[in-house]
Amino acid sequence: MAKVRQIFCAKCDKLMKPTLLPYYEFEEGMPLKNVESYKCYTCSQFTFTESQARKMEARTEKIKQNTFSFDKKISVLGKSLAVGIPSELVKHVSLKKGSKVKIIPLTKTSFKVIKIL
Ligand SMILES: [Zn+2]
Repeated sequence: MAKVRQIFCAKCDKLMKPTLLPYYEFEEGMPLKNVESYKCYTCSQFTFTESQARKMEARTEKIKQNTFSFDKKISVLGKSLAVGIPSELVKHVSLKKGSKVKIIPLTKTSFKVIKIL
């Protein structure tokens, strides 16, 4: 027999049941629809298992990539290579001329740029 995962409400210790949240923001401004979660039908508290949280994180990441993705060509700036930062992204991250950023290599084909506050 398959083992059923039992999750109890942290507030009132009642058995929580799997439910779909119609709307949930795992990250602010990144709404997800039909999110798997566990709900307490006594106090309406809901919670997520680790795998549910991982799924939400992956879905949020996908939305981010689809919302903010730009194809750019590399150009040359003195001895460095340069890539223009699209104005939508400049606005989103509040960058301006003179802003400082940190560039961190991630994999063989990617790096991230973080604004230094
Ligand atoms: Zn409860």
